[in-house]
Amino acid sequence: MCGIVAYVGSNNVYPILIKGLKRLEYRGYDSAGVSIGNQNRFLQYKQKGKVSDLEEYISKKDCNGSIGIGHTRWATHGVPNQTNAHPHTSGDGKLSLIHNGIIENYTSIKKALESKGHIFKSDTDTEVLVHLIEDVKNHEKVDLFEAVRIALDQVIGAYAIVVMELGVEDELITARKGSPLVIGIGRDEYYIASDAAPIIEY
Ligand code: GLU
Repeated sequence: MCGIVAYVGSNNVYPILIKGLKRLEYRGYDSAGVSIGNQNRFLQYKQKGKVSDLEEYISKKDCNGSIGIGHTRWATHGVPNQTNAHPHTSGDGKLSLIHNGIIENYTSIKKALESKGHIFKSDTDTEVLVHLIEDVKNHEKVDLFEAVRIALDQVIGAYAIVVMELGVEDELITARKGSPLVIGIGRDEYYIASDAAPIIEY
């Protein structure tokens, strides 16, 4: 089992993500990563190893923003390395996604997407999912919420996911099936996590 933590609100997101990931370490993991929405870019950092390695890697980098997603990975598809670590981005770079669980039918979805021109960087089932959401969003001309709903209809497996869209700083889309996920509701802020440990202090 691995971990998810995400936040949208008016506070600085990075300390919430990194502290939250540390609180999820007991679940076991092999790599960690965060993505922070910062106007028209994602500040995305990933590392193999401990959350403290990620923290060290980020220490002098820009991590400003008040929306973001963080992940500790327990590799099921693809070796533990920086490329396979989450978050994963869509081909157009506009969506950033974290995922706990397994997409069982990812091979057939990947083949169909490759035949449409999608190119994958990692060996994960997760990257297939974010490309599928991108594909649905662009072809069906729907918003992210609807694209996630339609995409997940095609997915067999267990998942907890959080998706964020470039330039949209007040919305996270989250979904779960067979993997745990909790949502904490504050005053004009939302916390999402694999369990209550990262968010209980808030
Ligand atoms: N199946 C995904 C991967 O291998 C997610 C694993 C996890 O739950 O951390 O990247």
